[in-house]
Amino acid sequence: MSERRVVVIGGGLAGITAAIGLRDAGVAVTLLESRPRLGGAASSYARAGLMIDNGQHVFLRCCTSYQELLARLEVTGQVAIQDRFDVTVLSGAGDRPARLRRTGLPSPLHLAGALAGYPLLSLAERARVGRAALAFRFADPASAALDRQPLGDWLAARGQDERARRRLWDLFIISALNIGGDDANVGLAATVIKTALLGHRGAADIGMATVPLGRLHGGATADLLGRLGAEVRLGARAGAIERLAGGGFRISLSRAGATAPDEVGTVEASTVDAGAGPGGLSILADGVVLAVPAGQAARLAASAGVTTAARFEQLGYSPIVNVHVIYDRQVMKLPFVAAVDSPVQWVFDKTRQSGLQSGQYLAVSLSAADDYVDMPTAALRRLFLPALEKLFPAAAGARITDFFVTRERRATFRQAPGSGALRPGAATSVPGLTLAGAWTDTGWPDTMEGAVRSGHNAARELTAKLRSLPSALGAASRGGLDRAWSGAS
Ligand SMILES: Cc1cc2nc3c(=O)[nH]c(=O)nc-3n(C[C@H](O)[C@H](O)[C@H](O)COP(=O)(O)OP(=O)(O)OC[C@H]3O[C@@H](n4cnc5c(N)ncnc54)[C@H](O)[C@@H]3O)c2cc1C
Repeated sequence: MSERRVVVIGGGLAGITAAIGLRDAGVAVTLLESRPRLGGAASSYARAGLMIDNGQHVFLRCCTSYQELLARLEVTGQVAIQDRFDVTVLSGAGDRPARLRRTGLPSPLHLAGALAGYPLLSLAERARVGRAALAFRFADPASAALDRQPLGDWLAARGQDERARRRLWDLFIISALNIGGDDANVGLAATVIKTALLGHRGAADIGMATVPLGRLHGGATADLLGRLGAEVRLGARAGAIERLAGGGFRISLSRAGATAPDEVGTVEASTVDAGAGPGGLSILADGVVLAVPAGQAARLAASAGVTTAARFEQLGYSPIVNVHVIYDRQVMKLPFVAAVDSPVQWVFDKTRQSGLQSGQYLAVSLSAADDYVDMPTAALRRLFLPALEKLFPAAAGARITDFFVTRERRATFRQAPGSGALRPGAATSVPGLTLAGAWTDTGWPDTMEGAVRSGHNAARELTAKLRSLPSALGAASRGGLDRAWSGAS
């Protein structure tokens, strides 16, 4: 196969992974990212001398594809994973704290002791939780019947009353699936429980970045893609994809955010390409990986004639809000805690990672944040400062030196009943146009692991497809569009 050229649209973890996979397969790659940085939904920004993550991101030891990407980026040393799954759960109702810590016993016995000693449920409730957890062993995540069922009903049918669902299941389901525990998709919940809690005994050990996410994913990726010879175009927004009659695609860049033609190699002024519209920029490719969020993908895929594109948006979105509080002193001793009977869900100590020199920086991570995403900052302050004081009495005597909020309205797709049937695979009805993104059908929730897996899926699918497709470069030469690639390095 002569060298083929692919345009990857979207520089999140899915697009990054696809670009690396395609380069490894010998395909020429141009990656277009509309923002001025790589990394997509897992990013950071500078604020008052600190690096702030747009939202706390954690991964589990079972997220093997994500960790392989980190290894490939040579940043494994910039994340830390617990030796053993260990979560302290604080109660806003004044109950004594609980510690869920696994042992070295084989799974599922590794968590039996933690559950047996969980003081926030009665002994009978703990026994019933154990039985329901084990029932997940027989749940097939790919089953259409499970896809349609809300988790609350499934758990209730297995003896999980309101208290058990709120005080234990919600802790992990809301953060893993970014949706209210009762409303979650049972198939995805089964994937999480089976892989993380019933899998290898170390599967649920929690990992997180020790440096800002933007550095972990962004900087290292640009270096690697450069070494691999892929072209990365930042500030380049794809506006439409046209399927060419002779094979291949013409990708038009929208004016706003498009890279100036004299700064780029493969993006040409469209005076040579009438199809891009007056003054527009366009780029030709044999294949496309569309690695953008579902809504953008629906629009771009429709422009290329993908018949199912309109369905992508039916997945919907779910927000995540992070409430950031900087105290003049340490108020929380642990690196992170979870909470029940409190508006607080999980709290992370971001002091070192952000570069704060004195005091303590806590980020309260709020998943399924529909109630908070439009709440004014002052109201969030009134709600969360007293809630934090209940969990950390030392906060009452501390001075707040900064308080701010990050809101991600479209943090993940809505992992609700029925979403499994809506997630498309990598292949589309248009040969050579391939989908990636954590929202596509990976079998995993919308997570960094899912994003990386989707990138692998897309790279595999497209590499195989390119063998049987005509070359757009050849067609372009025949049709007088050869200059579209004239600046290619
Ligand atoms: C606040 C928050 C907290 C989260 N917490 C966790 C967590 O703890 N653990 C976990 O595993 N996951 C977490 N996630 C989910 C995780 O971040 C995502 O699943 C993953 O990063 C998605 O990657 P992606 O590549 O599929 O999509 P994205 O990261 O959304 O990448 C898509 C990229 O496409 C670009 N783009 C869009 N349109 C165009 C266009 N027309 N032309 C060119 N480029 C375009 C976008 O700018 C973006 O960079 C969290 C997400 C958020 C927002």
